[in-house]
Amino acid sequence: MSPSAPAPFHLVQVAVHAPLHSRVGALLSYSHTEPLPPGTLVRVPLGTRELLGVVWDAPVPEALPADVQLRPVASVLSPLPPLDAAWMRLMGFVARYYQRSLGEVAAMALPPMLRKLTVEQLQRRLQRAARVPAQSTDGYDAEKTVALTAEQQTVFEQIERQSGPFLVYGATGSGKTEVYLRMVQQVLQRNPQAQALVLVPEINLTPQLLERFQRRFAPEWGAQAVVSLHSGLTEAQRINHWLAAHTGQARIVLGTRMAVLASLPQLAVIVVDEEHDPSFKQEEGARYSARDLALWRGRDVGAKVILGSATPSLESWHACQQGRYQRLDMPSRVGAAQLPTVRLLHMGQQPKKTVLAPPLVQAITARVQRGEQVLVLLNRRGYAPVLFCGDCGWKSDCPHCSAHQVFHQTDGRLRCHHCSASQRVPRHCPGCGNPDLLPLGHGTQQVQAQLEQALRNVLRPDGQPVRIGRIDADTTQGAGQLQTQLADMHSGVVDVLVGTQMVAKGHDFRRITLVAAIQPDSALYSSDFRAPERLFALLMQAAGRAGRDADFMARQDSRPEMWVQTLTPQHSLYQCLARHDYPAFASQQLQERRQAGMPPFVFQALVRADAKTQEQAQKFLQDAASAGRTLPAAAGVFVYPPIPLAVQRVANVERAQMLVEAGSRSALQRFLQAWQPHLHAVRAQHKQVQRWLVDVDPQSL
Ligand code: ADP
Ligand code: ZN
Ligand code: ZN
Repeated sequence: MSPSAPAPFHLVQVAVHAPLHSRVGALLSYSHTEPLPPGTLVRVPLGTRELLGVVWDAPVPEALPADVQLRPVASVLSPLPPLDAAWMRLMGFVARYYQRSLGEVAAMALPPMLRKLTVEQLQRRLQRAARVPAQSTDGYDAEKTVALTAEQQTVFEQIERQSGPFLVYGATGSGKTEVYLRMVQQVLQRNPQAQALVLVPEINLTPQLLERFQRRFAPEWGAQAVVSLHSGLTEAQRINHWLAAHTGQARIVLGTRMAVLASLPQLAVIVVDEEHDPSFKQEEGARYSARDLALWRGRDVGAKVILGSATPSLESWHACQQGRYQRLDMPSRVGAAQLPTVRLLHMGQQPKKTVLAPPLVQAITARVQRGEQVLVLLNRRGYAPVLFCGDCGWKSDCPHCSAHQVFHQTDGRLRCHHCSASQRVPRHCPGCGNPDLLPLGHGTQQVQAQLEQALRNVLRPDGQPVRIGRIDADTTQGAGQLQTQLADMHSGVVDVLVGTQMVAKGHDFRRITLVAAIQPDSALYSSDFRAPERLFALLMQAAGRAGRDADFMARQDSRPEMWVQTLTPQHSLYQCLARHDYPAFASQQLQERRQAGMPPFVFQALVRADAKTQEQAQKFLQDAASAGRTLPAAAGVFVYPPIPLAVQRVANVERAQMLVEAGSRSALQRFLQAWQPHLHAVRAQHKQVQRWLVDVDPQSL
């Protein structure tokens, strides 16, 4: 240091994503020539790198030695208004609740391009955005607003009058989206600054909804008033949309789970469509639930929160029963549209090894000959889940995982769905040389092949042969492939669509009259207690794709049906499905969960560890548990013994997990907060552990 007078000096504390300093709440200290308001975006040096950070309002650390030499802030992203206090509270909550560092959580919420742009580039981008207020709204003719149905009107008025949060429990096709549109319109018209956040579970559902919101709102507020935020955007799109939300230019942000973390200074209403969907839970890094954060955020800033679903999560249903959310029902489909009749086809009475029962094939044939479309649901891609040798018992096990490699006939390969390792199908059994290897079980490719065979002589009303499409993760890897294939379904190029859960959700197909679920039973025997809830929601959603257009059904003189092939038609889940009776299903499930002491009656967190051996992973968890059990906050908290994951080994890594449970959310949170430093300390003793994490409110076990 030179002996001359020191430069003006202000200590600023910055949230930076620096894995080595990743303790919850940890901030790094820097100096700057002026005080910087909290929420200011800065670049700061760390080691030899320069990182994006957010200035945080925090008490100055007392432990800072007087002679420590703070490094100066490298640059201030001054063109950008600081992030507001509400956004910083949200980040603070996410970090605390999900056990991550503030810096990591903030970095996850901010568009990646902010890390790269210079101050000048940012300036230019903002100016460019400010110059387009009169962006063309050509092609967006004022949509004529439909009159609400009586059910929609009642729900709308309730949301208007009460404070919520609300759960709109509405049948598939009951017009929930129209209620969201009306509510958003109402709130944004009343306050010319107000912003709305609309969350959907999957990227592939955003184009449809975005289009609907733009048609409704662009004529009034301009095309730039509605922006999307999801992982399918380019980095440039993502930062532009984020900036529009942050500066208030965007009135409506529509997106997947990540959108819940956007900066929305005037947030007044939040919609979570299909709130039960597992995709709202982030499954890596900070494992947040966008639905739960939407509720937290709404309460924090006084925004209305509207959840919607035909099959609400049991958590939300339970919250309604406790009076924490307000339930609003829309039991009827719009117009004369009817829900499909559910037929449970007893596979025990069909010939052995039947994939598609003859009566189902007949039903599909009849529909296609009348010019109607059919959806065939099978939640397993590939041709067969395993290849098998009848002579020596060899199976197509993945050498790197405790799982089988799946037989893909289309490209003649065996492929592991866990680690992606793949190889050509062997000509002879690698165990004994037997040339006849048998596919065991069925996947979408096989069902497609069987349908092609069974319907090969069937003609459509226009005399053309029937066309059978398939949509699953294998057919939709290329950009735009999914949209093209969905378009073929909408336009009627395809008559029968075989698909996984990707096609069951949300899509407004107009000419599907028959939906068939091929092999749903396995979910009934899953070790994950949420599997029945998931299955019920999936089947209800799939059923919801049939008979959506009342006019078409009337012209066809046709009635919608859903067929379920099952070995246990008497199972209560299917019985509830056949009556479209979600409340009965939910009440049974909740009763079972209450008796068994499972969520939503208890609160859970998982600690997971990966290591070369199962023993190493479990030893870390055991030591972590021992450290936890001695804490005062451990009273009323139960730490279970570590166990291997259901798929124990993936890509040669052994995986173990340990469940932590408490009777209340606050007890669990108190324990996790107290435990955190000990987890880090124990982990430092277990160098063999490659990765570990805490998953709060885990959605899959
Ligand atoms: P949900 O989101 O509940 O599945 P949608 O909002 O997609 O249902 O509505 C189903 C269909 O009914 C859509 O085609 C929609 O345009 C139409 N619809 C919704 N509300 C009305 C209404 N009040 N009058 C006429 N049609 C409506
Ligand atoms: Zn063999
Ligand atoms: Zn593998």
